[in-house]
Amino acid sequence: MTTHAPHLIRGESGDWEVVIGLEVHAQVTSQAKLFSGAATAFGAEPNTQVSLVDAAMPGMLPVINGHCIEQAIKTGLGLKAQINRRSVFDRKNYFYADLPAGYQISQYLQPIVGKGEIVLDLPDGRGRTIAITRLHLEMDAGKSLHDQHPSQTYIDLNRAGVALMEIVSEPDLRTAEEAGAYVRKLRSILRYLGTCDGNMEEGSLRCDCNVSVRHPGEKLGTRTETKNVNSVRFVMAAIEHEARRQIGVLESGGTIQQETRLFDPATGTTRPMRSKEHAHDYRYFPDPDLLPLELSEAEIERIRASLPELPDDKKKRFIEGYKLSAQDAGVLVAEQAAANFFEAVAAGRDAKLAANWVINELFGRLNAAGKPIDASPVAAERLGALVDLIQDGTISGRIAKDVFETMFETGRDPAAIVEEKGLRQVSDTGALDAAIAEVLAGNADKVAEFKSGKDKLFGFFVGQVMKKTGGKANPGLVNDMLRKKLSS
Ligand code: ADP
Ligand code: MG
Repeated sequence: MTTHAPHLIRGESGDWEVVIGLEVHAQVTSQAKLFSGAATAFGAEPNTQVSLVDAAMPGMLPVINGHCIEQAIKTGLGLKAQINRRSVFDRKNYFYADLPAGYQISQYLQPIVGKGEIVLDLPDGRGRTIAITRLHLEMDAGKSLHDQHPSQTYIDLNRAGVALMEIVSEPDLRTAEEAGAYVRKLRSILRYLGTCDGNMEEGSLRCDCNVSVRHPGEKLGTRTETKNVNSVRFVMAAIEHEARRQIGVLESGGTIQQETRLFDPATGTTRPMRSKEHAHDYRYFPDPDLLPLELSEAEIERIRASLPELPDDKKKRFIEGYKLSAQDAGVLVAEQAAANFFEAVAAGRDAKLAANWVINELFGRLNAAGKPIDASPVAAERLGALVDLIQDGTISGRIAKDVFETMFETGRDPAAIVEEKGLRQVSDTGALDAAIAEVLAGNADKVAEFKSGKDKLFGFFVGQVMKKTGGKANPGLVNDMLRKKLSS
């Protein structure tokens, strides 16, 4: 008997395995460019952040920005990667209207960062390790604006010279979902480190998707590379489409051309852009204006000591320290601000209950409102106070949801809302006795049915008592008291 592995795609000629390697361009968080002092702020007027170096005026010399180097090292350390003590900047030669020098300064044979890894958080809570091939530094090119004039193209050099980290993965990914998880995890690590803001809409993180297909066990197939995909959703859609296109071509007897393609978000399809260029086409050679970059062990260790607690370590601590499930811990640590918020709510309280409220109620409500955690109308101390009210029996979990709703709308203190609306849980047995007696008297037929064996009716009685008390009765107490009454 053969089983169908879930990651495979069934085709006419048998099962297909998709092989994916990603190249992510991450803009380094830095006030100044990689080789000049020009500013990097997003959204500035075109050509207002361009130095003579960026515009490639003859005789101008690049000067390396030490902060960008530090950011690249930090990122390498965050990816548990080898930091190369010696790296070299090369010229990658090609002509393009928005590349005034006729070459891009990049790193080729000797990048600043070597092999590392990223652990993907799978939906079932397990981890899967994807190997990182390398990380190198390079400068961005300018931008051609084709939509400003009916017959002319304008050039904006604000981006020219901005520092990018190109982070290359091994072809270890097997599904579009894994690729999506990879980009999300990488973005999370970069944000924790403060080395890239990860803002895909503003182009701070762009992804080239290399995709090939093969029958399981065969050698790697020919890949295509879909360039500059700028959202996690599009990365997944581009890979999904490209894999199915390739399977279609191969199953109808064709061959895959190694080529560069473009993703069209409007149609969810990819189309050819150009045939794949090869490294030798670029005539790489060491930039004679820049010395090789030499790092000392002490400098690397100094940067290592400055690293924050990263998502994987935090997740482990949340699982062990707060006894959370791997899934809950994974959700909470994805963003540093969310993890901090949770820790403030959980401090000195039932951590599982706190996690529940943060993930299911707060995150749910924030998502629906399209608000980030920093803009939460409910402060961490106030959500903590709500958890306290549940823990000490002042309100039930059910009522707490209504209180939370009011908190989300007004930001108010939960105790004040409970008092004002008279929502205190009724744990007074006298009051509950009366309500229970009324319910039983009003449903004598059902009581008889229950006593003759229709156990399921118990829930009905509980519901009726809760209704009578406006949902405020202590549910545990109602259960106990009803059981006693009905068994007598
Ligand atoms: P280049 O620099 O020309 O794009 P690389 O060898 O550096 O080529 O590979 C770039 C990316 O392509 C890497 O992420 C790598 O994992 C991926 N890759 C290489 N071969 C394949 C393949 N057969 N199928 C899918 N991805 C691949
Ligand atoms: Mg490439």
